[in-house]
Formats: sequence, C-alpha cells, structure tokens
Amino acid sequence: MKIRIDDIPEEGLVLNFSGDSDILSESLVSVPVPSGTIIDPYMKGRLQIPAGSGELFMIGYIETSVRMACSRCLAEFSRDVNLDVSLIFRRRDAQNPAQEADRDEPDGDFTFFEGPEIDPGEAIVQEILLALPMKALCREDCPGLCPHCGAMKGSPECECPDQDRVDPRWEALEELKKRISP
Ligand SMILES: [Zn+2]
Ligand SMILES: [Zn+2]
Repeated sequence: MKIRIDDIPEEGLVLNFSGDSDILSESLVSVPVPSGTIIDPYMKGRLQIPAGSGELFMIGYIETSVRMACSRCLAEFSRDVNLDVSLIFRRRDAQNPAQEADRDEPDGDFTFFEGPEIDPGEAIVQEILLALPMKALCREDCPGLCPHCGAMKGSPECECPDQDRVDPRWEALEELKKRISP
C-alpha cells in the first residue's frame, strides 16, 4: 500500500477499505512475522490523512483477523484484531542517522520514510503484531498437551494418570529410592 505524497490533496485524504482489497500483502512479505502467525491481508478499515497537518499523519482503524498457533496445545486458532491506528510519518534525515534512536522517547513513535511515497502497510503490520498477546493461547484456560501421550490434557484421548503430582503417600518411598540407587 503505497501513497505518493504529491498525490495527497490539500483537503486531506480518506482511504476506506472493506475487506476486498489485499492492502497488506506486500508489507507482509517485508515485515518479519512470528512463525505460525498469519495476518489476514483482507482487512477492513478507514485511514485518514487530515488536511494541513504540517506533519504527515494518519489516523483511523483497522479490522482484521490473525491466525496463530496456541503456545500450549499448538492448535491453530483465529483471533479478531480491531485496532485504532495513529501513525506519524517523518522523512528520514540522511544528515542525522541518529534520528531513529529517538523512537523510544515519549511521543517519538514515528514511521520513517524516504523518497516520494509513504507505505503505511509496514507500520500497520507492526501495530497488529504489537496488539497480539505475547503468549498465544487458543483459550485462557487451555490445559495444553499431555507430555506422556501428546493428547490434550484432560481430554478423553488422554488416559494418563496425573503424573505431575506425586501422591504424598509415595513421597517417602521416592525419597528412599533416590537414596538407595547410586
Ligand atoms: Zn490451546
Ligand atoms: Zn496423556
């Protein structure tokens, strides 16, 4: 999704997209995404570059869905992502390469660009990734896989006794066994 800066009219620019355009596919190739994570490039949203903003900025929202693999049971699942977007584009200053280090300062969340175009796609992919939970879970209380049989813990397929807990009555025996065996 490239926008020529010269093509932005004085009265500003509004981009509406409704799930029919493949606006992120290019950016999804250039931005590294964690393995197992798939962002649906057919997203809904509205982005606006207001008129006379001096600085080039873009506000709006994005609705999409992301496929992820559960970190406990490895099952794939889909999560809807609804995101408010607020991006500030700043021309990269070749004279001042330290500029990007300013990104971490408060209100210093800029997307840098060079040349005649801005590409909000990459920034949007980054925003979507930031909105995802650190630990992908298919559901909050996912019990994960049984380490013994590989089936979902507590599922009918897993008939293993709960081996995480040693019966307290056997603990003394376990202790003894450890002392006897060299
Ligand atoms: Zn799970
Ligand atoms: Zn099992």
